[in-house]
Amino acid sequence: QMALTPCPSTLHSANSALNLNQDDFLYHFGLSRTSVDLEKLFGDVKFVCCGGSPTRFEHYAKEFSKESGLPVSANLSRSDRFVIYKTGPVLWINHGMGAPSLSIMMVETLKLIHYARATDVTFIRLGTSGGVGVTPGSVVVTSAPVNGELNEEHVQFIAGKKVTREARLDSRLQQDLLAMGEELSLPVVSGKTLCADDFYEGQMRLDGYFCDYSSNDKFAFLRQLHEMGVRNIEMESTCFSSFTCRAGIPAAIVCVTLLNRMDGDQVTLTKEDYLDFETRPFKLVTAFIRQQLSI
Ligand code: URA
Repeated sequence: QMALTPCPSTLHSANSALNLNQDDFLYHFGLSRTSVDLEKLFGDVKFVCCGGSPTRFEHYAKEFSKESGLPVSANLSRSDRFVIYKTGPVLWINHGMGAPSLSIMMVETLKLIHYARATDVTFIRLGTSGGVGVTPGSVVVTSAPVNGELNEEHVQFIAGKKVTREARLDSRLQQDLLAMGEELSLPVVSGKTLCADDFYEGQMRLDGYFCDYSSNDKFAFLRQLHEMGVRNIEMESTCFSSFTCRAGIPAAIVCVTLLNRMDGDQVTLTKEDYLDFETRPFKLVTAFIRQQLSI
């Protein structure tokens, strides 16, 4: 077992209980402070790239390794909940679907970075989404996330009470990513993102097992979203933005749209189209990261 040194807070709002000379098990990563040297393994991290699927993130990490020449680690997670790959100062971690799963990954990643004493870290979510009035394959760089009540905030229930926190993203990062997307001739758009807590009724789909609203209700809602500047719908943006904002970490969300919800509800992309679409956020974000790291 390794000796522990007291951990000064490198992030905003880190829980003061974390500064004790105590071991800490990051349960969903299967990593503890004494089982691995977190500082040695993760102390140089500058970018955390995250998104839903474990296999997509393994693929992204390996592609980035090939393109940048940085070696890719094995999966550093010791649990089957999440995967963690490392290519030099870039981490690739999947977060599953929806805010509850994402929030667990975020807390354990923030603790990991805190214990590793990594500084000047940026988080970027590379995701898939449903488009609102945009061509499938468009890459939306989120200007502001909105929750199910259409407010730019994240709602969490703590001790039986509704706690509301601001959910803001870094505007400089957004502008830089949009500029990079244009430079690469990717179909990028800036727009608000609706963070739903469900894929079906929460996104006004007509093809779920349950459906108590009409097609007219669906289109009225989508039009309302479009008019307020929403260009895509996913399930993590307000939680992701509020956690990074609260920790004082610059963050951005770059999602490809798999369909235009004005045209339907089913995702029926061919394998080739899906593979092409999912490389778009990757191309944009990795070009930006390589520019930032001069690699
Ligand atoms: N992810 C979502 O949350 N909704 C979609 O329509 C597609 C991907």
